[in-house]
Amino acid sequence: MFRSFLIKYGEIGVKGKNRYLFEDALIRQIKYALKRADGDFLVTKDKGGRIFVEVKSEDYDHDAVIYALGHVFGIIAFCPVVHVEDTSIENLRAEIVRYVGEVFEDRNFSFKINTRRAHKSYPMTSMEVDAALGEAVLTAYPETHVDVHKPEVDIRVEIRDIVHIYSKEIPGAGGMPIGTNGKTMLLLSGGIDSPVAGYMTAKRGVIIDAVYFHAPPYTSDRAKQKVIDLAKLIAQYSGPVYLHIVNFTDIQLAIYEKCPHDELTIIMRRYMMRIAEHLAEKNDCLGLVTGESIGQVASQTLQSLFVTDAAVRSMPVYRPLIGMDKQEIVDLSEKIGTYETSILPYEDCCTIFVAKHPVTKPKLKIIEKSERNLDGVIDGLLEEAYAAEELVIVGRE
Ligand code: ATP
Ligand code: MG
Repeated sequence: MFRSFLIKYGEIGVKGKNRYLFEDALIRQIKYALKRADGDFLVTKDKGGRIFVEVKSEDYDHDAVIYALGHVFGIIAFCPVVHVEDTSIENLRAEIVRYVGEVFEDRNFSFKINTRRAHKSYPMTSMEVDAALGEAVLTAYPETHVDVHKPEVDIRVEIRDIVHIYSKEIPGAGGMPIGTNGKTMLLLSGGIDSPVAGYMTAKRGVIIDAVYFHAPPYTSDRAKQKVIDLAKLIAQYSGPVYLHIVNFTDIQLAIYEKCPHDELTIIMRRYMMRIAEHLAEKNDCLGLVTGESIGQVASQTLQSLFVTDAAVRSMPVYRPLIGMDKQEIVDLSEKIGTYETSILPYEDCCTIFVAKHPVTKPKLKIIEKSERNLDGVIDGLLEEAYAAEELVIVGRE
């Protein structure tokens, strides 16, 4: 029944030239998302800046379109629209009755008809059309009633060359279209938190590159596949993700051999940050993103975050989950669809070498001193890790 979708998007703070960039990026992302839905679609923008998805094919997968549009950042809400070709008032009366009958199972509601005419040549005024169509609905469905001030159902009728009827508004993903705010490097582990951090960053229009550290043979191919699968889920929102997979085994072993065991985690984390920073610079990213939140584990006390952060010299580290409780993060991961994958029980490279009693209040000077034990070996190991980097591009159509 629905032949197009009206896309509602926020424009606050998006003016002038930026508005075109915003709209073009939004249209590009809508097209990308619709590639996953069966059917042939055209994305159009009218003079007023309104964006429509028009269905071109005879058949299409309605649910898949709803799913796809629900994953596009920048869309606040979208409305499935019915097209009516015969614009005569007799036909519109019949069509509005059919519309209400098909769209609403329970018609015990208050409603209002809200007509707009693109051409004033239509033989009736908007208010006359409101009255005629309202009366048709009331006659066909006596359980409804009219409320022009606070209707439960607001039925829009737009008279152009054809007539558009819509009333349902489906909430979108919000945020800003991908590609409007630069690129960052996400440290993506197989856990619950980092995919959510990636989602939150992408939501603000940021392109996501990702880096995953694995430690074969201590971590398995299945653990790596899990991270690729998580990147695919993020890509449904963010578009293609360039996932850099770095072999961390020898660096981890060197740290294990040469540094105090209660400092392993923090020193490992500092090397992860350094490598991520290097890859970020090479790939034009303007910051790093992690899934850390204050106090969640020993490596995320303020002192630990201070020492971790000090390893990064040239760019900011964004931590979008910094003030969230674990349960809030879990709820969000369920909502965006990463939770089920995140909780699969494969080993993480950090957990293999963790000490029984890691330092919770590391001091930068002391950690730096311990790291000096790695002088002479670490540069070579870093070069080897960079050289062996594996790039997987996920979510490319
Ligand atoms: P997550 O659920 O995201 O794994 P976590 O609560 O397990 O987080 P940590 O393991 O201490 O916390 O990791 C903190 C952050 O460091 C992660 O959110 C992620 O950004 C990054 N990180 C940890 N391990 C890896 C890894 N193997 N590869 C890439 N990034 C990692
Ligand atoms: Mg983890």
